[in-house]
Amino acid sequence: MNFFGYQNQWEFLKKEVQNKRVAHAYLFVGPSGLGKKKIALEFVKLLNCQVPNFADRPCQHCSSCLSITQGTNPDTHIISPSNSKDDPLSREEIGIDEIRELQSFLRLKVYKASFKSVIIDEAEKMNVFAQNSLLKLIEEPKERTVFIIISSRKEMMLSTLYSRMQIIKFLPLPLPQARKFLQDKVSAKDLDNLVFLSQGRLGLAMRLINNPQKFRLFLKTFSKISQVLTSPYFDRFQFVKAFLQEKSDLLTPSELLDIFSVYFKEALFYKLGLKKDANSNSFGRVNFNPYFKTKEIVGAIDFLEHLRFLLNKFNINLKIALETLMTYV
Ligand SMILES: [Zn+2]
Repeated sequence: MNFFGYQNQWEFLKKEVQNKRVAHAYLFVGPSGLGKKKIALEFVKLLNCQVPNFADRPCQHCSSCLSITQGTNPDTHIISPSNSKDDPLSREEIGIDEIRELQSFLRLKVYKASFKSVIIDEAEKMNVFAQNSLLKLIEEPKERTVFIIISSRKEMMLSTLYSRMQIIKFLPLPLPQARKFLQDKVSAKDLDNLVFLSQGRLGLAMRLINNPQKFRLFLKTFSKISQVLTSPYFDRFQFVKAFLQEKSDLLTPSELLDIFSVYFKEALFYKLGLKKDANSNSFGRVNFNPYFKTKEIVGAIDFLEHLRFLLNKFNINLKIALETLMTYV
């Protein structure tokens, strides 16, 4: 079983189960694209696997493990953010309706499993009503029920909520470790690009491997960004316009920000003379304007982080936001 390099976190969870110390609620926290949801699902399998020998769990083959893999396990409830039904272009959110459904799920008797499990993905997208209702549920723990809350931004949740959870942190892997993990999964040519674009986020890397079209689009967008950021503003704004017009289902605004983030971080490393050999191949293709100032690049990175927060919380004007980003360097 691979855990994307998060063996320590996995061993910790395994000990919790083995020592019958399973907490009522866990918070898996760390940047998106690391594979936290996959580990959450493996944890649910571990809790409910039917093979007698603990060391063999999760076996992946018993009816419980299989039903969790297939998403049909009646004792597991997964919540992910979605758009409002009335407005498909609205901001993704987890609202009170989702938590009400969860309440009904929790009232049901356990069907077959040892534990009733709840996974909330991208929990930072819960609105305040949802968070308050969830808080009530977590405050009144039920026997043999476990919540796994997954988030890339703990600070966007109520502190009263996350303070009741056992926090498990995840960080991107160092690039050499990520490269080792990925090397037998793609061609040598793709490997450089993949390590470069995913920046130690193996969940993202696996998504790109499984979706070659998206992988190509990431690469194309990166080259385009590196090209337009050394071009006049007019070209930069044309790029934003084209991105918004295409309304590509394959590349979300948040993924576009991820690609910008790779570019600006690389630019900063380059500027500070910190770039080592790991991705030297990709480096030749990247346009960095030697006249970029360190201060400007740092400003762009700060603004990107701020933009991510705003994108999660508000219906902001994406065109203006991206155009502003384009003027930092
Ligand atoms: Zn099993």
